[in-house]
Amino acid sequence: MNTEIISGKYCNSLTSYSRYNTRVVKIGNVPLGGNNPIRIQSMTTTDTMDTQGTVEQSIRIIEAGGEYVRITAPSINEAKNLENIKNELRKRGYDTPLIADIHFTPNAAEVAARIVEKVRVNPGNYADKKKFNVIEYKEDAYQSELDRIRQKFSPLVKICKEYGTAMRIGTNHGSLSDRIMSRFGDTPLGMVESAFEFVRICEDLNYHEIVLSMKASNTKVMVEAYRLLIYKMEEEGMNYPVHLGVTEAGDGEDGRIKSAVGIGTLLEDGIGDTVRVSLTEEPEYEIPVAINLVKRYSKSERSSHKPIPEITVNPLDPFDFKRRDTYETDRIGGHNVPVVILTADEKIKSDHTSLKRIGYNYSESLDKWNIGDAAPDYIYLGKDDLHYKLPGTLKKIFDYSYWVKQNDDLKKESFPLFKPEEYLNADLKNSRMNFLNVSIEDLPEELYDKISKDEKCVMILTSDNEHAMPELRRVFIELINRNIKSPVVICREYLNTDEENFMIHSATDAGALLIDGLGDGIWLDTNSSDLKNINSISFGILQATRTRISRTEYISCPSCGRTLFDLQETTAMIRKRTDHLKGVKIAIMGCIVNGPGEMADADYGYVGSGPGKITLYKGRDVVKKSINTEIAVDELIGLIKDNGDWIEQS
Ligand code: SF4
Repeated sequence: MNTEIISGKYCNSLTSYSRYNTRVVKIGNVPLGGNNPIRIQSMTTTDTMDTQGTVEQSIRIIEAGGEYVRITAPSINEAKNLENIKNELRKRGYDTPLIADIHFTPNAAEVAARIVEKVRVNPGNYADKKKFNVIEYKEDAYQSELDRIRQKFSPLVKICKEYGTAMRIGTNHGSLSDRIMSRFGDTPLGMVESAFEFVRICEDLNYHEIVLSMKASNTKVMVEAYRLLIYKMEEEGMNYPVHLGVTEAGDGEDGRIKSAVGIGTLLEDGIGDTVRVSLTEEPEYEIPVAINLVKRYSKSERSSHKPIPEITVNPLDPFDFKRRDTYETDRIGGHNVPVVILTADEKIKSDHTSLKRIGYNYSESLDKWNIGDAAPDYIYLGKDDLHYKLPGTLKKIFDYSYWVKQNDDLKKESFPLFKPEEYLNADLKNSRMNFLNVSIEDLPEELYDKISKDEKCVMILTSDNEHAMPELRRVFIELINRNIKSPVVICREYLNTDEENFMIHSATDAGALLIDGLGDGIWLDTNSSDLKNINSISFGILQATRTRISRTEYISCPSCGRTLFDLQETTAMIRKRTDHLKGVKIAIMGCIVNGPGEMADADYGYVGSGPGKITLYKGRDVVKKSINTEIAVDELIGLIKDNGDWIEQS
């Protein structure tokens, strides 16, 4: 793609914060898009036929701050029961708009659209059954497929128009139709085109109460698809509001980090009118995460942030990930995975056993270090050496003023951290690698010039701008345009916040850069969390951006009224037995209707296929059908073993 033409077109500006302007869509009494706040929503996990259970759960979502509640309507019966749920909620004083979630069942959608304020359709399965067939369509056959969709979809559009019901056309990366897959492949462009087939029908019928989404479990695919959506909407003169979400994000820290990386990256550029964080947890737990993500952008400090120099030439392709080309210096840059740097705390300074928290476990009897998959690469010690020897894979960083006064042995085995003026004037440097701490403000021509000639320099890039990620991105763009290939470590400090804010905000700031191929390492710090968590979050961000894999990846659906087993309990059980399988992707999906389509690129799938029954997948292939839940986890482990992906826990 020609980046000079496309750069900046997916948002208002890459350097100055403002919301991308969309049209206002009426959804009951809570309008979406335009200047309205970024709305928060979640989805119930109860059986939709259980009126009381669904009402109670909806209330918990609303009380937590949810502004819309989505409820699944897998068949006409559930669609009809939405009326009872709505009436009960209204009776109890809650007028929050309700959204019906539809897959495969146009007849349920047509009932629901007369009852609730919004329906969500999946263009991959509204008019198509997924068979994973690769069909070559000639132009006239493709056109007749579009005519078939028009016939199936138009009645719903007309009902929505008549009843003033809004509609989300929500593409999922994992459930594109065979038609779209055959023509566009499993790509962001295919995702956008999948929605546009339906949008064009709406526009022909003069219906515009539309919201669009491009969800994926892979954060890179998700971000690229949303950017492409905006770009293509601009091209076609559309401005529909955008619903942001990462599908099947999982639970706990991993689910939160993955959601922040995907959703936060887009929010940073002003994209997004409503957010749903999908966690395999109770739905009301999703709400604080979504609020945490969104609240950063409503503060006046964000829109009045310190100015960032404009970009004249943008070398980044926002629709295609490519890692920035850098020198390899020690173990940083080049083809190395991004490194993790931590600041040593008092515990580490006083006792070697405290390194166990960050993946280095010393065995007294064997006199050996056991090194975990998520163990940092460098530790910053400032002006204090340790009284014990570190494992060989953990290197020390000292302030230059301290490092320069040490004996030759210590100088050789550690690395100095320079301030800009020290770097410009130093007589002595480490012959292998030197860290240079800089922000956008400390980069005069003289420094750029010196860095460009120094293959041993690693920049530690910081920012105190309220709009920090774009400021850091601006420096990366400058480095690329000047052909400077020094590796860069993204460095952010979060003071006086809480643990959850630290996790969400650091995942947004660092993740947004890593997703665009920028950054050869991360160095995060906060006074609100223990070093164990800082380390875990650092590796979690690298995992969520798929730049350094150190854990098993779980792709688990948030569950809904279709779920056939206790998803949270099962996910915890599977995680307990498999979380040492670094790099293996395991999907845990509640139902066979959507699960297989939506488990994306998982290596193994554990999918509910009937009451008390599980079907196991290897990739996209069914391996064991309808086995009993009691033996299903053991069978899954057997399948992983048969395929050579199992290792025994050490
Ligand atoms: S995969 Fe999970 S969230 Fe999606 S429809 Fe099935 S049970 Fe519901």
